Amino acid sequence: MRDETTYIVIHCSQTRPSQKDVDARMIDRWHRERGWLKIGYGGVIKRDGTYEQGRKDDAIQAHVKGYNHTSFGLCLVGGALEEDWKLPDDNFTAEQWESLKEQLTRLVKLYPDARIVGHYDLDKNKTCPNFDVQDYLLHEDIPNYKFQDALTDDADLMELQSDEEPN
Ligand SMILES: [Zn+2]
Repeated sequence: MRDETTYIVIHCSQTRPSQKDVDARMIDRWHRERGWLKIGYGGVIKRDGTYEQGRKDDAIQAHVKGYNHTSFGLCLVGGALEEDWKLPDDNFTAEQWESLKEQLTRLVKLYPDARIVGHYDLDKNKTCPNFDVQDYLLHEDIPNYKFQDALTDDADLMELQSDEEPN
């Protein structure tokens, strides 16, 4: 069991949009093939928006190097370019966005002290989940998310920076 949860980490499965049947069971198989105990994520959002539980909410998970003991991993199925699965592509469905908001709402209630981040925020070598999570959070109101006010968009940041520079 995790003692604390400081991050809710969004991932993608890096699979093609046409791979509509990718689900928690399939990811579980892939992760076992890599020699893991079982699926590494806490939850999976299928292409049709269905949420499936992976590891238990409070279990130690296996999805981001260095943070598995302090984070929950949520995986969106998709995120790879149809023509070349190695390339990132923001191709999530409307049903998935809706489900993502629902799950983040649930998780923020469960872990009020956790920041919502993308995998790439914790591992600079990753692009996963292949969309801009901070930008998403700026435009999506997750109820009771206490770090909402700490978000700034790039325009704000530019303004701040230009204020600081007395050119
Ligand atoms: Zn990831």
